[in-house]
Amino acid sequence: MISTVKSGKGRSPAIGIDLGTTYSCVGYWRHDRVEIIVNDQGNRTTPSYVAFTDTERLIGDAAFNQVAFNPTNTIFDAKRLIGRRFSGETVQSDMKLWPFKVISDVNDRPMIVVTYKGEEKQFAAEEISAMVLTKMKQIAEAYIGSEVKDAVVTIPAYFDHSQRQATMDAGEIAGLNILSTINEPTAAAIAYGLENSSSITGKKRTVLIFDLGGGTFDVSILTVKSGSIEVEATAGDAHLGGEDFDNRMVNHFIKEFKRKHHKDVSTNLKSIRRLRTACERAKRILSSCAETQIDIDSLFQGIDFSATITRPKFEDMNSDLFTKCVEIVEKCLIDARMNKNGVDDVVLVGGSTRIPKLQQMLRDLLNGKELCRSINPDEAVAYGATIQAAMLSSPGDEKVPNLVLTEVTPLSLGFELGGKVMKVMIPRNTTIPTKVTRQFSTSTTTHNDRSVWLKVLEGERTRSTDNNLLGQIKLDNIQIASSGVPRIEICFDRQVNGILNVSVRDIYTGVENSLSITSGRLARNEIEKMINAANKFKASDEKHWKRYEAHREFDSYVRRMRQTVSHHNLSSTDKKKADDAIQKAFQWLEKKSARKLAQVSEYERKLKELDQLIGRIVEADR
Ligand code: ADP
Ligand code: MG
Repeated sequence: MISTVKSGKGRSPAIGIDLGTTYSCVGYWRHDRVEIIVNDQGNRTTPSYVAFTDTERLIGDAAFNQVAFNPTNTIFDAKRLIGRRFSGETVQSDMKLWPFKVISDVNDRPMIVVTYKGEEKQFAAEEISAMVLTKMKQIAEAYIGSEVKDAVVTIPAYFDHSQRQATMDAGEIAGLNILSTINEPTAAAIAYGLENSSSITGKKRTVLIFDLGGGTFDVSILTVKSGSIEVEATAGDAHLGGEDFDNRMVNHFIKEFKRKHHKDVSTNLKSIRRLRTACERAKRILSSCAETQIDIDSLFQGIDFSATITRPKFEDMNSDLFTKCVEIVEKCLIDARMNKNGVDDVVLVGGSTRIPKLQQMLRDLLNGKELCRSINPDEAVAYGATIQAAMLSSPGDEKVPNLVLTEVTPLSLGFELGGKVMKVMIPRNTTIPTKVTRQFSTSTTTHNDRSVWLKVLEGERTRSTDNNLLGQIKLDNIQIASSGVPRIEICFDRQVNGILNVSVRDIYTGVENSLSITSGRLARNEIEKMINAANKFKASDEKHWKRYEAHREFDSYVRRMRQTVSHHNLSSTDKKKADDAIQKAFQWLEKKSARKLAQVSEYERKLKELDQLIGRIVEADR
């Protein structure tokens, strides 16, 4: 059970957040049901984008919308970096696809480099994710009307210890109290109430979660029994999703443009960005319509572009990618040693599963099985997280589903044996907290004469080098025993707070050493530093917002004055005076617009001046 639960009256509202690679979504339990909250743009999902400009920081839609003008300072995909090492294979290959710069810090942690207000700044992935979380928190606060502190945040089932911890850190930096994290497929299963489906009969059910989002594809097979959910197998492709379908359409139209106008759009980054945005929109429309139109004014060298695309054409250009998705499902079933007919429920998750062709292919694969899709696929994960948030923050509320939720180890924990293979101490899916103690002979572990080195590992592979090294611990001054005789005692203690304590003890001498692994967790002082930075950002954002408001207010004031003046029968000198002042105000506003906002006091002064001038003129007219 999760222990950090606050209950009782006066508690703050708890929200559920799906922190996605490309889009995030937030929900709140109210009036006995989950409400998915719309953001300030009226959208139910928010791009996981953060942008830095000369004057401000933007998060969500605002960041996403300006990416064409500011590609090197618009950050996305932070979830691909979180909790990973810079030198790791994944980061090295992902980096090649990003327009923004990523470097390594002294601890091999990836750092994102941006220019903000003319200065170079570096951010850890935790900080960027924290910014996205802050945005989701604000969206919820605006809707609920009070401060939000508690949240449940979702993470992919395959995330390791370090990625999970780093996500918790991001929550803390965002000023959230993370009640718990929850696996994305588990959240989706909860959204459909599947955890209850077996509690009546007591029979085990097998659930297949098909999650195709913007950039990633994840298949998970879960088993549900008496209200508990376990991840049995996962498969997927870290680079397969909606963006690939967009790219196919972009390439198609680049060719069409070449054919029609003999010009190459792909030479201009901004044109490509605009084309991609239009393609993504068209793709969404094709999920419900048979045909749609693309219209872009002055796409390239002043040439307008318009074209039609049909659903069959779209399906055709992506057919190999769709087939790949289905093959991965088959592979996952094989890994889980499961027959197609053994699947009881299929749940669609991720925006890209709205594509009808994909749904049909999946149904065909599973011999016509009906798919659970009554909840919006891009909201199902946030939906489940919200139910869990409600469950944790309002225990005893009859309307909230009552589910015994246990936290389990996502990957096996163990240590390296002499032959460079991994010895598992705590198998994956073990309920946390858990403590395992065993005795070994020194020949089992890597040793040299009188000391033993214990390499603590995480993963499912046999060879220790294929698993994650969480830490090392050394035991000195041990007595030499004949090979095979138990000499040392090893204890793995995995606690609920994400900490793994490992200790080694020489049974005969009593010499002992231990290690507390918080791998992936930032050091306390680092978190504090990041919280301070986040607060400064908040203050700066607020300051910018106030200027923007002052700008808008002055702008609408000048417009009102223009109306007022036109309604009065002024003498020609007075009219000219007023018109000039209004004209001047507009010119000044134009200069100050968007990127170069003036100080609030300046707007106030200008407004007062104009107010007095127009007031005098209009008064004289009476
Ligand atoms: P994440 O990958 O971050 O989990 P989502 O699950 O929200 O994100 O999926 C986002 C993807 O879903 C985007 O590529 C988006 O274009 C795609 N998408 C959203 N709605 C539709 C739709 N109606 N038809 C096809 N694709 C869609
Ligand atoms: Mg998702």
